[in-house]
Amino acid sequence: MAEPEVVEVGQQPIERFHQLLDGDFDRLTAAAGVARGTFEGRTIWQVNSTKSGGGVAEMLQSYLPTASDAGVDMRWLVLHERAEFFELTKRIHNLLHGFPGDGGLLGEEETQLYEEVTAKSGARLGEIIKAGDIVFLHDPQTAGLIPAVKATGATVLWRCHIGVDRHNACVDSAIDFLAPYVEQADVCVFSRPEYAWDCLPDDRTYIMFPAIDPFSPKNQSLSGQVVRDILVTIGAEEGVTPPPPEFVRLDGSTGVVERSAEFLQTGPIPERAPLIAQVSRWDTLKDHGGLLTAFVQFAPGNDAHLALVGPASAGVSDDPEGEIVYAELQEQWNDLDEDVKERVHIINLPMDDLEENAAMVNALQRRADILVQKSLAEGFGLTVAEGMWKGRPMVASAVGGIKDQIVDGESGILIEDPTDLSAFAEAFESLLSDPDFAARMGEAAHARVARNFLSLPRLVDYAQLIVDIEARDAD
Ligand code: UDP
Repeated sequence: MAEPEVVEVGQQPIERFHQLLDGDFDRLTAAAGVARGTFEGRTIWQVNSTKSGGGVAEMLQSYLPTASDAGVDMRWLVLHERAEFFELTKRIHNLLHGFPGDGGLLGEEETQLYEEVTAKSGARLGEIIKAGDIVFLHDPQTAGLIPAVKATGATVLWRCHIGVDRHNACVDSAIDFLAPYVEQADVCVFSRPEYAWDCLPDDRTYIMFPAIDPFSPKNQSLSGQVVRDILVTIGAEEGVTPPPPEFVRLDGSTGVVERSAEFLQTGPIPERAPLIAQVSRWDTLKDHGGLLTAFVQFAPGNDAHLALVGPASAGVSDDPEGEIVYAELQEQWNDLDEDVKERVHIINLPMDDLEENAAMVNALQRRADILVQKSLAEGFGLTVAEGMWKGRPMVASAVGGIKDQIVDGESGILIEDPTDLSAFAEAFESLLSDPDFAARMGEAAHARVARNFLSLPRLVDYAQLIVDIEARDAD
């Protein structure tokens, strides 16, 4: 294994939340004060296996700067493991979502590989973590570390971001595989009650929604001009290249968007064309291919464009499936009729500077008239909260945590059967043909995220959770 990578993230003044949280702000800062006392001299570690291009990385980027401003020593470690380990953990990821993934087994050989890799990383973590620390281990890639981390005398939370409402044989096989490790955690946190595992005791199982950082480069407000300039700079929209557009970095300094994206397109998006967009990793369960087919059905009789947006290849270190999914999408795009092809833009965003990447995502989400999340399964789907925060009407599959975010018909449109392409096409039509309806939905979406899915309240929830479990275990 390579050494665990320490990811540095800046500091963000909590004060910025004042305007958003209004009456709740004082309660939250008081709680942050209590947390500071409880965590004095202790480190809170966040451990996962990629620093970019997925929901976990996104959340950690937002939690760390806020925790740091609260005076809490929170640090982020990324584990770099060998490719065959990530192939196995991607299989487990898919199984936990109820899908067979690559169809491979979870047998003795896989257990051996899993334990060999996690034992090495666990030993290394054992040298870094000290007794009394608090360690969040995220997702299947880290579950095998639980015994080693427990042995340091730290409090261990396993945060599982994956799940499915109805468990099937695929899910059960993944749970059986991981349970021996996960059972040793002090607490397991899932995104929905349905995702919790029967084999874990109720008093060690907690439910917590993910949340977004409203001030991060991904979600901060951008003027219409900056949105346009970013899109022209990256090559997504036609126009004369402007001076590099600016955004505010996590540490408060000014960043600029300078890099270009890579495209599969016959030409850029026309400035005023209605735009439907989905931003996701290139993953089978995000179903870019299905969305493209739905768009082909929808395309005649209107002038809308479709943007499928994801990270440039190799951007997501623990996701070996990306290149295969992208290659399939490329083939599907190549086979399109010319008149539709010129309205479909497959966009790979550079990941060299994650905050610049985030500003690009931000601009694309704000440029879209409709944002889509056509997932076949979804733990939570941060992209949904991101789109809603930007006041965009979302059309999304009624799967997993997406159902907790969108109230159908009020703050977005939920499609009951994610494979029902006509239903997606109808939803696009209803929104594009009625801008007032779309605007009302966008406003309701923004308000819903402001009430339920912001990062500072969630961090305080976590602090309270740690205080509670430690008090309980001390009894
Ligand atoms: N994302 C990104 N750049 C990309 C594609 C995705 O920053 O090119 C981000 C996206 O904005 C969101 C996260 O990756 O913050 C994806 O989180 P989500 O919960 O939607 O799905 P996951 O990837 O965790 O399954």
